[in-house]
Amino acid sequence: MQGEDLSREPSLLIFAGWLIDGTGTPAESCVIAEVQAGHFSSIQPAANLDSLKAANRPFLDLSHCTVLPVLSDCHVHLAWSGTTDRSQRDLQFHQPRGPAGAAISGNLERHLAHGILAVRDGGDSGNHALRFKQTHPRNPYVPVCIRAAGTVWHKPGRYGSILGPALPAGKTLADCLRSASPGADHVKIVNSGLNSLAVFGRQTPPQFEYVELRDAVNTAARAGMPVMVHANGVRAVREAIEAGCRSIEHGYFMGRENLEYLAERRVYWVPTAYSMKAYVRGLDAGTIEQETARRNYDHQVEQLAHARAMGVPIALGTDAGGFGIHHGSSCIEELRVLVEAGFPVEEALACAASRSARLLGLQNEIGRIIRGMPASFVVVRGGISSLPGSLESPAMIFVRGERVPLTRYVTPGSAFHR
Ligand SMILES: [Zn+2]
Repeated sequence: MQGEDLSREPSLLIFAGWLIDGTGTPAESCVIAEVQAGHFSSIQPAANLDSLKAANRPFLDLSHCTVLPVLSDCHVHLAWSGTTDRSQRDLQFHQPRGPAGAAISGNLERHLAHGILAVRDGGDSGNHALRFKQTHPRNPYVPVCIRAAGTVWHKPGRYGSILGPALPAGKTLADCLRSASPGADHVKIVNSGLNSLAVFGRQTPPQFEYVELRDAVNTAARAGMPVMVHANGVRAVREAIEAGCRSIEHGYFMGRENLEYLAERRVYWVPTAYSMKAYVRGLDAGTIEQETARRNYDHQVEQLAHARAMGVPIALGTDAGGFGIHHGSSCIEELRVLVEAGFPVEEALACAASRSARLLGLQNEIGRIIRGMPASFVVVRGGISSLPGSLESPAMIFVRGERVPLTRYVTPGSAFHR
């Protein structure tokens, strides 16, 4: 049309049946969103489609779909698959660079296929995730952002050899952090054991003395790196919060006082609760191990309900790559756990959207659908009640206003990687 300022035309105009903005507020139905130059330029309620039809403007009709922000998974192990085959698990813990790189590529595609655009890696003994990030330019068709840990240290004789080396004799954790892993985004520290599948609620002591842990966290902070800490049990969690860690990973059996402390200090909790359900599903029925995993799971769901009531900052992490925890799809399972613990689905999604994005330092890139934010979003079929299951096969994914051609890049999982 003559005289009309074409620069004001949105590059994309959307009518969404439902919109979840990623902050935890309830979904809105019938919303018109405009995208210009890759960003949301306006988001407005609409009574119905008629106004758009009457204006005779081309638009994307998503009236039978829900639009939500792209998500982040704050705890993954990209180099590993979620296989439950013990011998394959052992093999992948020590796999060479080539197969590890192929596994990482496939796993990034799986994340993207479920609407996940950022992952935080918790390490592997070959440092494959960090090396992959450093040697592979971001694939424009699989634009998943990787936050990678440096070398993951543990105390000699304690849990952690699948993640990295034991601390050499005579060296402190801070000494090791000072020299290792240029280019890492964060530091991962292992400060407790695994959860026992033989004895319910058995707690292991912290791996590091409090002062050593605190000095390490301060060393990391001087290098601009936050610390994610593997910690289960009352003391290991307490000391990790006290030392200034940015997020507590797992946090099983941490107890109410620690939950209150997390809320007060605004330290993130990444509960990885589905990992126990994955054990329940993957272990032999009727065994002590399966029963203990079930009790661990129930206990973690109780902690989650308390945490929600207390206002603990919770970010979603799956531990994908762990036993029975598949990249991408496990995000849906972890969302289901949050819903089981009493979170409305919008709040559960906020843990994977705005809260996860903030933990990853990506809060201005992804995680919220508000005016001015980059238009990176997922379209799933159906309304709110279809979530989180509808994330199993999103209808569309947009990154900065551009549609990502999903079908071409999603590969069916091989036996090894599923
Ligand atoms: Zn992990």
